[in-house]
Amino acid sequence: MLWEELREEEFASAIEKSSKLCVLPIGCTEMHGQHLPVGTDSFEVTHVCVEASKREEVVVFPTIRFGNVPFLTSWRGSVRLTVELMQQLLKELCSEIARNGFKKILIVNGHGGNHALLGNFVSSTQHDMKDYVVLYRSDFEYGIYSLAADLREDKEFPALTKEDVDNILDFTANNGIMGHGGVDETSTTMAIRPDLVKLDRMYQVDGMPTHLSDYLRPAGVHNSAASFWYVEQPNHYRGSHPEWANERIGNVLFERRIEMQAEACRLLKMDDRILQWNDERNAKWF
Ligand SMILES: [Zn+2]
Repeated sequence: MLWEELREEEFASAIEKSSKLCVLPIGCTEMHGQHLPVGTDSFEVTHVCVEASKREEVVVFPTIRFGNVPFLTSWRGSVRLTVELMQQLLKELCSEIARNGFKKILIVNGHGGNHALLGNFVSSTQHDMKDYVVLYRSDFEYGIYSLAADLREDKEFPALTKEDVDNILDFTANNGIMGHGGVDETSTTMAIRPDLVKLDRMYQVDGMPTHLSDYLRPAGVHNSAASFWYVEQPNHYRGSHPEWANERIGNVLFERRIEMQAEACRLLKMDDRILQWNDERNAKWF
């Protein structure tokens, strides 16, 4: 049930089937090295939310394709919106989703740089009395390191070849670097949009961190990744070249992420406490 594909008269039953839950995916438009498209995060989070909604029926709002990427000024293709505008956009979209009859809104985040933005936004929704509740979860927590941990616990992934398994275990045992345009995102993009992945272009720029800002760590002022991202990852690519990335690995990562998202929707659809707490809070408000 994709919001934009529904006809007006279908909304009432869609809201009921969704138990008043609406999923709002958010990604970003930012450079991912030279081998992946700038829409990578938006493509991924959309895929996870849409596929999960086939397993646990829920209405999915159109993806917000812009996110927090303030530092991306030295390369083309990235789109920056101010934090103030993003907060206002989220506020008005949630208000419109609720006005249409959805009382539980789950924002699903596909971009690491959105964490602070979304945390602040969800917190801000508590300021005024509302008849709806906004929650958020990140979609990308299950990556290569999580998969490696599962492999070490002898969990089976029949879709992976022996070579895939060896590559994953070797990479993680050697503390392989990834995080942006690395083996995770390259594999997942190969699984859904292979036409947009240009593996031969990965060598155009380097993905290794510079460590230039490490000296600030002891002072405790290195806690905001965004502040120094452009110094640490000047090519907006973080990872050793993902030469062994492939769609099999991408599909395995997606499978877990889709199931986690479906599970979150199952839980929130059944839940009757969060709206009750909200009502109780509103009743005591003075
Ligand atoms: Zn990304």
